[in-house]
Order: sequence, then C-alpha cells, then structure tokens
Amino acid sequence: LSPVPSDIEISRAQTPKAVDILAKEIGLLADEIEIYGKSKAKVRLSLLERLKDQADGKYVLVAGITPTPLGEGKSTVTIGLVQALTAHLNVNSFACLRQPSQGPTFGVKGGAAGGGYAQVIPMEEFNLHLTGDIHAITAANNLLAAAIDTRILHENTQTDKALYNRLVASVNGVREFSKIQLARLKKLGINKTDPSALTEEEMRKFARLDIDPSTITWQRVMDTNDRFLRKITIGQGNTEKGFSRQAQFDIAVASEVMAVLALTDSLTDMKERLGRMVVASDRNGQPVTTGDLGVTGALTVLMKDAIKPNLMQTLEGTPVFVHAGPFANIAHGNSSVLADKIALKLVGEEGYVVTEAGFGADIGMEKFFNIKCRASGLVPSVVVLVATVRALKMHGGGPSVTAGVPLKKEYTEENLQLVADGCCNLEKQIQIAQLFGVPVVVALNVFRTDTRAEIDLVCELAKRAGAFNAVPCYHWSIGGKGSVDLAQAVREAASKKSRFQFLYDVQLPIVEKIRTIAQAVYGAEDIELSPEAQSKIDRYTEQGFGNLPICMAKTHLSLSHQPDKKGVPKDFVLPISDVRASIGAGFIYPLVGTMSTMPGLPTRPCFYDIDLDTETEQVKGLF
Ligand code: ADP
Repeated sequence: LSPVPSDIEISRAQTPKAVDILAKEIGLLADEIEIYGKSKAKVRLSLLERLKDQADGKYVLVAGITPTPLGEGKSTVTIGLVQALTAHLNVNSFACLRQPSQGPTFGVKGGAAGGGYAQVIPMEEFNLHLTGDIHAITAANNLLAAAIDTRILHENTQTDKALYNRLVASVNGVREFSKIQLARLKKLGINKTDPSALTEEEMRKFARLDIDPSTITWQRVMDTNDRFLRKITIGQGNTEKGFSRQAQFDIAVASEVMAVLALTDSLTDMKERLGRMVVASDRNGQPVTTGDLGVTGALTVLMKDAIKPNLMQTLEGTPVFVHAGPFANIAHGNSSVLADKIALKLVGEEGYVVTEAGFGADIGMEKFFNIKCRASGLVPSVVVLVATVRALKMHGGGPSVTAGVPLKKEYTEENLQLVADGCCNLEKQIQIAQLFGVPVVVALNVFRTDTRAEIDLVCELAKRAGAFNAVPCYHWSIGGKGSVDLAQAVREAASKKSRFQFLYDVQLPIVEKIRTIAQAVYGAEDIELSPEAQSKIDRYTEQGFGNLPICMAKTHLSLSHQPDKKGVPKDFVLPISDVRASIGAGFIYPLVGTMSTMPGLPTRPCFYDIDLDTETEQVKGLF
C-alpha cells in the first residue's frame, strides 16, 4: 500500500499462522515447544542435543553506522533480509532479535519489531511483555539486591551464635546444612557436614560475609526510564536500624542477569554464572558472590523459563527468535547465544541465521565479536552494515535530528554534498568491521525522500571504502522482495572464507584492552582513567578477574564519548569514569564519560500516543 500504513496497522492486517504450525514447518517436534497464546512459543533446549550432529548454517551479523536518535533500521533490515531469503529465494533462514525494553517503547525510540513491511508480528506482543523474560530478570536481580542489604542488617544486629543458629535452621527438628551452605563451607575450607561440629571460629567465618557496604556494585533494576531512581537512599525506615546507604536503580536490560541470559549456553552453565556474580567485596577485599549469599538456586528457579528462546514470525511467515535484550550502549547489546545456536542448527548447512547487534558497529558489533563470539565459539561469515542517507547527512554536518521534531529540509531534499561528507562515518565503520576479518555488505535502507543520485553515491563510496558490496534495500516499503539484492549480496559474501579474528588477547592487562578498543575502534588518542576507575581495575586484577573481555558503556550517538561529535571525531582522549565487573556474565564493564545506566524520559515520550481501545481490546499508538 502507498503511503505505507503505520507499523501497528500493517502488523494487525496480517494474521500470523498458529505458532505450532510454524514450529512444525521449521522441524520442531511437538514436545520441543511450550506455547504462549496463539503466536508465541518457547523452545526447549533439549533440541540442541537432538540436533548436535547437524552442521551449522551461515552466521550473519547486522550492525550499523552511528545512528540518529531515531534508529536507522537495523531490525527492519534484519527482518527484510530473512523475508527475502526465505519467502523469495527459498533459502532457510532465521532472524535472531533482542527483546525490546519497555524503556524505549514508552520513552524515545518506540518499539523494535522492525517496521513497515518488514516486521515481527504481532508487534504489540513483541514490544510489550512477550513471555515475561524481562520480568523474570527483574525479579531475579532484585531478589539478590534484597539479599545483600538484608544480610548486612542481620550480620550487624546479631551475635555470631544467634546468626549461625538462624542461618542453619532446623528442618523438622533436624539441623542440617543446605546444599548451598555445604558449598560455602567447602569454599571456606571447612570439611564438616554436622552443624553442631563447627568451632566458634568456624561458625563466625561461616555466618559472616562481612560485606563492606561501600563496595556494593549490585544495583536494583526496573524496566522503566525513571531518571529519579539514578541516585537514591535506601533503608530509611526505623526497622532498618540506621543501615541506610546511597544506591541506584539501573534499567533492567543492563542487569548482569540479562547478560548472563544472553551469554549462557545451558541451564547448568547459567546456574554457575549466576552463582559467580560478584556483588561486593568483604572487609578483607575478597569478592562476595551470589553463591556466598545462598541465592543461586532461587535465581536459577526464577530464570528457568527465561532461558528458552521465544519463537515468533515475520510478516511473511518466516521464523524469528526473540531472546534477551541488553542495550548496546550500557550493556553488551546482543541477543542470546542460545537462540543463535539453535537457529544455526535448524536452518541446516545451506541456511542463514541473521542476528542483530545494537546501535553502531563501534559498540554493538565490537561486543558481538569480542564478547559474544568469544563466549559461543561461533564464527560469523558476513557483516551487514546498515546505513541511511539521513544519518549520513547528519554526519556530514546536517542539522541535529531529534525524536518527535519534524526533519529539516536538508533531510527531505537532495543534498549530495552532505551525503558525501557524512560517508566518513560509514567508511570508518566498514574499517572497524574489517579489523575482525569479516566481509562487509552495506545495506542502504532507503527512505521515501532519498534520491537516485544520493543512493548511487552512498553505494559507490561504500565500495570504494572496502565494502564487499553495497546495495539499496526497499523492504520497509515493499517487504522481502525489496531486499532480494541484499540477500544475493550476502550469499555471495558468505561463500568467501571467513578470516575472523578477535581484536585483543584477553590475557592483556585490563587497561591495555580498554586502550586497544578506544584507539583501534573509536579512534581516540588515548584513554584517561579516573582515580575511581583505576582503583577498581587494581581491585579486580588483584581478585583474579583481569583476564576477561571488555564491555564498554559508551554513548551510541558518536564514535567518541561526546554525543554531539558526529562523523569521525578526532583528537580526543576517552575518559573512563568508573569500572564495574560482571564476573558471572564474564566481562569487565568500563563506564565512559557521563554514561548513565538508567535512561530518562523526554519531554514528549512515546507514551502520549499509546492507548487501548477498550471495546476491541486493541493497542493503539505503538510504533
Ligand atoms: P534500529 O534497529 O536500527 O534501531 P529500527 O529497525 O527499529 O532501527 O527502525 C527504527 C524506526 O524507523 C522504526 O519505527 C521503523 O519503522 C522506521 N524505519 C525503518 N526503516 C525505514 C524506512 N526505510 N522508511 C521509513 N521508516 C523506516
């Protein structure tokens, strides 16, 4: 239809096939799915065992240039590409996407189901609660947060004996250690199983974690952009006996539990990772973990369904996994390893799995390679780099682009100079992908106002910059058939042998790894560590966590740390203000500049447009 209707109108006009039919089409057995409603199902991990001898398909990553705040269509290209592959070229394919956070859905950017005629449907189910995975993460994260502060209160208000006796409560009159407590005793070197056999010193050691409150790094989370929770004081009630401290909320998708979900490859591994998460140090400088607090089992119980990838479909009926949803600026920005692994088996050797990394290639793709591929052992075949004329014009010096404000004429009329000048960002992002030895296909996501001359110019400059190929795509306005050229280009690039390599050796010191990313990827002169960041790096190195990959928390709006510096910023030193450690997920997490882990709402948030028609129960205003 022309003009193209709104995303939600398009989504609603198509009736999705029943999810059990979709599951059958892609080779799943009836007992390998758990159906949620009519169009969503969770897929059981047992599938991996059944298909373990099946060769993997080709692995394609969709990344992008530095975007405007509106998003340049990476999800839309991902969906357009699989629609082209499967519905038009008859090649098995799977799209693997992240579950959107409700922060952007109700805040600035809207949903993330793709758009136009390249969407996951039903888009309101995709964009809202899905099957509750983010709620499970929030519950697990906050149970752990509650356990930390409560433990400090109890340890500081009870004698050693009383504390010990309460921790080893009797079950039906018999006092015995739980499995988790036995594990803690082992860690402490106490080889006793009878609670009455411990000496007073052993009881003290067992009962007291001695958490130093000033070292707590575990924050509470919620899935709402609520800036007023960026800094809070907790424990102000009389019942908390003065154990109040400054704390903060992060957005739920930045929780380490989310990163664990995205990087794990089995239930056993997830449980181990959850147990390893470091939440603070004790007064001797030793790390305190989820396991020490005895919460590992409970967290695993809360996460046992979330670990199963969610099956949905595109507008053209091709399969999609939606699983895990870390942001790429303040987290590692990639969907789950498990969804990719299962999809790679399901598509078969000749098929394609198209997975998306968040924001620009400098952050989402860098973390895809250095963190996700390192964890999964999977080797990508092709990078699809999404560009738009709009974003290139912004990098070429066009006026700023703001959500909710109509675009200026520079963006709606032909302007070849701005496009040519802005292609420096595209060139740099191509070079970043090439650092990893993977061929790049540039997908120019065409908007209605783009002219032929602008489109030709971008494709020409992209090829000159070293892209394997560069093609315009029209999936947003006409669906999968508008991306057949992209699909052909991807197939051709995938037939080349991958020379994939990591950017750095994890054995390098933390500072060297951060410097390598800052210089080779962002183009910084050097890095500058705050005293806080330096002391955290020293602590983590001393605690034995120096050999983990790095997950930078940096703005997505610039290659540098300053969102207003467009194009390819030069002559800047990257400030590292703080460093956190996600030991369970398996990375060190430096915060660049003033990066906040809790977004805020704009003056005119998306929620103004969102409503429910109470007669028909239809959601309105999502996009
Ligand atoms: P990203 O994944 O890069 O953040 P999305 O794919 O979510 O971007 O797209 C952002 C928004 O832009 C969506 O609302 C989508 O409908 C819209 N959009 C994407 N491509 C086009 C296009 N070619 N023309 C018009 N709107 C588009």
